[in-house]
Amino acid sequence: MSELYQHRARKRFGQNFLHDAGVIHRILRAIHARPGQRLLEIGPGQGALTEGLLGSGAQLDVIELDQDLIPLLKLRFGLEPRFTLHQGDAMKFDFATLVSPGEKLRVVGNLPYNISTPLIFHLLAHASIIEDMHFMLQKEVVERLAATPGGGDWGRLSIMVQYFCRVEHLFNVGPGAFNPPPKVDSAIVRLVPHAELPHPARDHRLLERVVREAFNQRRKTLRNTLRQLLSAEQIEAAGVDGSLRPEQLDLAAFVRLADQLADAQASA
Ligand code: SAM
Repeated sequence: MSELYQHRARKRFGQNFLHDAGVIHRILRAIHARPGQRLLEIGPGQGALTEGLLGSGAQLDVIELDQDLIPLLKLRFGLEPRFTLHQGDAMKFDFATLVSPGEKLRVVGNLPYNISTPLIFHLLAHASIIEDMHFMLQKEVVERLAATPGGGDWGRLSIMVQYFCRVEHLFNVGPGAFNPPPKVDSAIVRLVPHAELPHPARDHRLLERVVREAFNQRRKTLRNTLRQLLSAEQIEAAGVDGSLRPEQLDLAAFVRLADQLADAQASA
């Protein structure tokens, strides 16, 4: 890489650049991009994944926030007609502008850890135009995304993401694969939006509300934590045992509670 564009990693942009060729290859293999597909990479950084993604023959848009990385990305990939560079904040980006009707987007990113959860929620709002997502995240976050009911990792993030997507924890990546090395372990996750929601709620905002309220005090019983939203009778009418703690309920049960709340609001 040209000396001219030596870049010092910035903490405020969550910059930990991948440099381990084996890990990069493994990620690219998991994504398995093909010619003609539409890919979006969030935070290309210095292009560690970008090169292989473009090499697949796919159409690639990238969004990078750090202005100082733009000349380097232009220099490396600017002449490639299948490459489009956007400088800006992925949190404010309207992903729908990237696809024509009927087209779907494959989203990829070694995400800055400080914005990974809000960014995933921002992307879920566009789930209908997304084919799949592959992200490098903090390992603990991937464990929460892929969690099953009954354990300490099962919570708001697991439930709201699994409402929209199938989640696969693919593999872990140690700090040594990055420059500078982060303080935490990382993992690759695959999120595939459901073609049809397995447990559709009448109003998914009410599901969000019930889940948030329930996990605000995860040690307490549902009867207690949901007191402001649903009576003991309404919880029972949803087929849920009010003496359970929130982490013992699966997604379907939370959806039943949210629908019960929708009923209660409709008849109020
Ligand atoms: N993909 C590169 C790699 O694997 O080496 C860089 C990964 S680094 C963890 C995260 C990248 O996301 C950085 O390049 C950072 O500048 C960029 N970034 C941070 N916040 C962003 C945002 N809100 N929108 C777009 N890019 C962002």
